Order: sequence, then C-alpha cells, then structure tokens
Amino acid sequence: MTSAEQHCPSYYAATCNDDAVYPPLRGDHRADVCVIGAGFTGIATALTLAERGYKVIVLEQNRVSWGASGRNGGQMIGGMSGEATLRKTWGDTHADLLFDLGYRGHDIIAERVKKYAIDCDLKYGYMDVALKQRQLDDQQAWYESLCARGMEDQLRLVPARELPQLLGTDKYLGGLINNRNGHLHPLNLCLGEARAAAALGVAIHEGSKVTGITYGALPVVTAEQGRVTADFVVLAGNAYQHLEQKALSGQVFPAGSYILATEPLSEAEVKEINPLDLAVCDQNEVLDYFRLSADRRMLFGGRCNYSGREPRSIEGSMVPRLRKIYPQLASKRVDYAWGGKIGIVVNRVPLLGRIGGNVFYSMGYSGHGVNMTHACGEIMADAVAGTFERMDVFAGVPHRKIPFGQKFGGQMVALGMLYYRLRDML
Ligand SMILES: Cc1cc2nc3c(=O)[nH]c(=O)nc-3n(C[C@H](O)[C@H](O)[C@H](O)COP(=O)(O)OP(=O)(O)OC[C@H]3O[C@@H](n4cnc5c(N)ncnc54)[C@H](O)[C@@H]3O)c2cc1C
Repeated sequence: MTSAEQHCPSYYAATCNDDAVYPPLRGDHRADVCVIGAGFTGIATALTLAERGYKVIVLEQNRVSWGASGRNGGQMIGGMSGEATLRKTWGDTHADLLFDLGYRGHDIIAERVKKYAIDCDLKYGYMDVALKQRQLDDQQAWYESLCARGMEDQLRLVPARELPQLLGTDKYLGGLINNRNGHLHPLNLCLGEARAAAALGVAIHEGSKVTGITYGALPVVTAEQGRVTADFVVLAGNAYQHLEQKALSGQVFPAGSYILATEPLSEAEVKEINPLDLAVCDQNEVLDYFRLSADRRMLFGGRCNYSGREPRSIEGSMVPRLRKIYPQLASKRVDYAWGGKIGIVVNRVPLLGRIGGNVFYSMGYSGHGVNMTHACGEIMADAVAGTFERMDVFAGVPHRKIPFGQKFGGQMVALGMLYYRLRDML
C-alpha cells in the first residue's frame, strides 16, 4: 500500500479495536457492484448488498474509514440536512417517508451493532442547546412536531435553570433532550461493519485509488493496479471525491471541521459537566458540538472552515471555544486534535442520483452523516435492485451548481459561510 495514507492521529485511531488490513486490488475482477470509497456510505451500501446476496468489491484509496467516517464527532442525530428544502419541494407528499428516513440510519446501526457484535461504545442520549431566543422557538416547534410523530416519551424540553446541573455550564438558554439520538465511536463502527461485510464475501481493497470509470452496459472501474468490471458502480467518496467532475462538479464542496480530545476527566468532573452522558450540539449554523468518550475525555468539535485552508493549529483554534463553555476545563491537557472534510451541498440536501443508468452516487450530507449514510446505503442497494422510490425523492430536488465550482467553489462556500456566521451573531 505504497501511496495510501493511514488513519489520521485522532483519539479514534488511538483507541481503534480492529486491526484488519485489506489488500490492494491487483488484476482484473468481476462483480455485481463496485463501490468506490470505504467510509460509512460505501461500507453500509456494501454490507446491505452483501446481506441481499450480491457480489461486491469495495475500492478505497487509503484505509477503511480513513475519511470523515473515521474522524467525526460520533453524534448520531435524527433527521437530515436540507430537510426544510425537501419539505418545500414535496409538500406533504413524502412527509412520512422523510421522517422515517431521518431515523432509519439509527435502526440500521443498532441492528448491526447487535447482529455483528460491533464494539463501538453506542449510547443513547442527546441534547440540542439554544443560544438565542429564535433557537428556543425552533426547539419548541421541533418538540411539537416530534411529539406529533409519537416520540413524546423520548423527548424532554429542559429549561435554562436546569442546564447547569445537566451540562455544568450556564451558557445556554434551554435544551431539548432526544433519547432516540445518541453517540458512538465512529471508526470502530465503520471497521466493524467492514469486517461484517468481508465475512459475507465482500472483497475490500485498501490502497486502491480509483482513477477512472469507463461507462457502458458493464462499466469498468480502473484503479492504480487493477480493474473491476461490474453491473453497477456506487460512488461513495463524499468530500474526498474527485471522480465524475463533469456530472458532479460544483455541487459538493469540502469544508473542514475540527475536534479535540482532552485527557480523561475525573468521575467528579463528569458528574459536574455531563452526568447523563449526552451528546450535545448547539443550534448555530457554525456550531459547537461535544460529548464524552467512553474513557471520559471531553471530545469537543466545531469551527467549520469552508475555505479549504487548515487552521495553523487545530488545538489553538479549538481550545478557546471549549473554554468559553467550560472554563473549569481550562487546565486540561489536550491529547488529540484533528480534522476532516465534510461534504457540503449548497441547498444542504444530500446529493443522490445516477449517471448513465448504472452508476449511482450518494454524498454531501453537510455534516449530518452518521445516520444518513446508513439510510442512504440502503437507498443505493434498493437502486441496484431497480427500486428508486426513495432515491428519487432526493434526485428530484433541484440542485444549484456553482459555476466554475471546482475553481472558485471554496471561496463561494466561504462567502456563504460568512453569511451564516453573521446570522449566528444576530
Ligand atoms: C470533523 C467531523 C465531524 C463530524 N461530526 C459528525 C457528527 O457528529 N455527526 C454526524 O452525523 N456527522 C458528522 N460528520 C459528517 C460525517 O462524518 C459524514 O457525513 C460521513 O462520515 C460521510 O461518510 P462517507 O462515507 O460518505 O464519506 P467519507 O467517510 O469521507 O469516506 C469517503 C471515502 O472515499 C474514499 N475515496 C474518495 N475518492 C476515492 C477514489 N477515487 N478511490 C478510492 N477511494 C476514494 C476516501 O478515501 C474516503 O475514505 C462530521 C464530519 C467531520 C469531518
């Protein structure tokens, strides 16, 4: 695996519990489906297809879960990005389908963790926190809409006066606990799913960068040292995807997001700052999110960077944000700090569709992908079987292409980001 990169030096890589290594693709191979990219999207698709009896080959340029899937905040949050646009496009027509899809990934993850005995610290409990009155109003509206969907037992609106006991901070105006959501160790989940897929016969190849696709009745996928001829191809490279520029350029843009992990906290500190072990997200567009790891570290993330430029020091840019919420953690050592790329779509609706009838793609979850990648894996597997009902709900939403997106996309998205930052400040 000469040119392949290893997992980035994150808390997750340091606590990874699966040492499987998959060989690079060499020579000519035949499959029903060739999946390009071995993050959640690629692996979830491959596992669903394998469970349905398809012969699948997965090609990954680096390591399984090397991208966002192995680096993210591990927050499993219901719903999807771009929901408002989807609703506006479809009115009531697909309201039930969209609501079900927003939690379908949770069910798939829970089933797989159980069925394949995947040790990934899956826990339930999550809270949205409001920093402004309009966010409190949004919380009230979500609460009511989720109650109308029968979720009342899993929800609780938390008034500001209770938050210091639940989160050890008085920075928020209110919270909405949702116990259907939760958190997990994303790298261990993805590696566990890959192991399960391999046990079902999926051929996974790391260190196998795809350089091109030749279209036809049987598309041919060319990697650095081998080729796969397949009935179908699934593109699952998300923000790291550079293939199919003509069809997809100007639609998904990489944005950096960053996380730090402190040294483990004491039992007393945990009791003070997060006794219910909740994953927490504020409601800003440029949001902060945090939770505790299984070994009691504070995992604190945020600071989206849309310009494509890495901060000079991730730790230096994240620590002040952490201290603003938790001054009591100011003396904590930071053991890990890392970042990854989120695939952002202009209207935030995940980009699902097909090129030429037998090449499918699913990407651009706009930072909300732990659950949706799993739901979309099922949608891709349905498409392979000729069922497009759920795919077409996404494919039917008009997406704006940023002209000269590949050249100016980063700057355009950075401008959009500035707009959202200003809005967060109001
Ligand atoms: C720092 C950070 C925090 C986040 N936090 C959360 C969170 O808490 N909750 C949440 O829901 N979402 C979160 N997200 C978003 C979530 O991680 C992503 O939406 C999700 O992981 C996307 O999965 P994916 O498989 O589509 O893409 P990725 O995991 O990025 O995988 C794409 C893979 O494709 C491979 N690839 C690309 N091109 C090629 C090629 N030509 N040949 C072979 N392989 C190729 C890449 O190497 C990569 O491994 C976060 C993202 C980041 C970066």
